[in-house]
Amino acid sequence: MYKILKKNWDRSKYFLFSGVIVIFLLLLTVIYKSDEKISKISENKNNSYNVTDLKELKEFILDQIISPYTNIDYEIKKGDTIQKILQKYKIQNKEIQIVINQYKKYGNPNTLLVGNKIDIIIEKILPTNKNSLLKFSVPITKSTAIEIVKNTENEIISKKIITKLYKRKVLSENIIKKNLYSSAVEASINPDTIIEFARIFGFEIDFQRDIRKNDYFKIVYEKYFDENGEFVKSGSILYAHMTVNGREVSLYKFGTDKDYGYFDINAKSVEKALMKTPINGARLSSPFGMRKHPISGFNKMHQGTDFAAPTGTPIMASGSGTITRAKWCGGGGNCIQIKHNSTYETIYAHMSSFAKGMRVGKKVRQGQIIGYVGSTGISTGPHLHYEVIVNGKKVNSQTLKLPSGKILKDNERKQFEIHRIKTDVLIAELIDKKN
Ligand SMILES: [Zn+2]
Repeated sequence: MYKILKKNWDRSKYFLFSGVIVIFLLLLTVIYKSDEKISKISENKNNSYNVTDLKELKEFILDQIISPYTNIDYEIKKGDTIQKILQKYKIQNKEIQIVINQYKKYGNPNTLLVGNKIDIIIEKILPTNKNSLLKFSVPITKSTAIEIVKNTENEIISKKIITKLYKRKVLSENIIKKNLYSSAVEASINPDTIIEFARIFGFEIDFQRDIRKNDYFKIVYEKYFDENGEFVKSGSILYAHMTVNGREVSLYKFGTDKDYGYFDINAKSVEKALMKTPINGARLSSPFGMRKHPISGFNKMHQGTDFAAPTGTPIMASGSGTITRAKWCGGGGNCIQIKHNSTYETIYAHMSSFAKGMRVGKKVRQGQIIGYVGSTGISTGPHLHYEVIVNGKKVNSQTLKLPSGKILKDNERKQFEIHRIKTDVLIAELIDKKN
């Protein structure tokens, strides 16, 4: 009995011991392997960007799990066709046929540009040895590619995408004949840029009252083009000038790509907590104060400002903040309320619809489109009813004095002066080019 027990004990000791050794060896390999990778990653830190490190780290993590997806960076060789390439990666025949048919909308699937790289993502179909295609992106020119992807409904769809854009700085100017918008359109300025221009000047100029016939604007901004010189989108405004009622205001964009502002020639920021008018090209139709209500007929305090504008006109957040209400609110129809800080709140009522993604808790930036003019709730026609609340009390947004923007100091001020001179030189060059 004792002998048997002892024998068993010896055997289990043996198993236990070898088990420990095996685990130890396994651990050692894993540690060694990750050590190798980690040293490779940190080595890279000295001569490349963080992106590479992250990519390596991602690859390292991906290596450790068995993924059903494979990403292939395929270089097109002479004689390659879409069919040949996809067969090489064992894509199901029916999918190959769909890809070829989709590609035919843009070009010949049998003549691909040798040397270009195709980005392919495939998924293993178990238990077969065939693969399914998730993405097939092939460049067709220097700046465009055809992207064929499987969408969430499992359909293979295609679209032409722009992979490279060319940036150009342009100067546009015009005399205001009717209103800023129509004169800007006449100078072939894109609506996005006009809205941004109005936002920047919205703090300085009351577009309802200040603009006179023959006032003037000048603007320097970026435009992006594709390789055929076809306009794609506009970039940011670098300089904006307005001569209004004999008064001249020039504003310069200054700061980094992510954090910038617009400053006047005295290095003072024009931006304030709230804009005067959260809408463009509208007419102030009913001011803040006592009035006879257009529907009830009773004399009542009008707690906001009404701007008449066509249905669908975009409404902007007059300041950055968090949405605290975005729903039907009775007489106000579709309305949005924004809390900007501990002092200011704004309300926008009678909207025809909200902009995409507007819901309670969403953060919005100043000038961002939050909804569109309508006539919902108790309303006589399409208009925006706009309210400003200061410390819980409704006030007149049109006479409200907001604290003025910050003034650049010390080193920032020096940097700004240099930047301002450079911008003035650029403006002179652009004017020169035009004449
Ligand atoms: Zn109103």
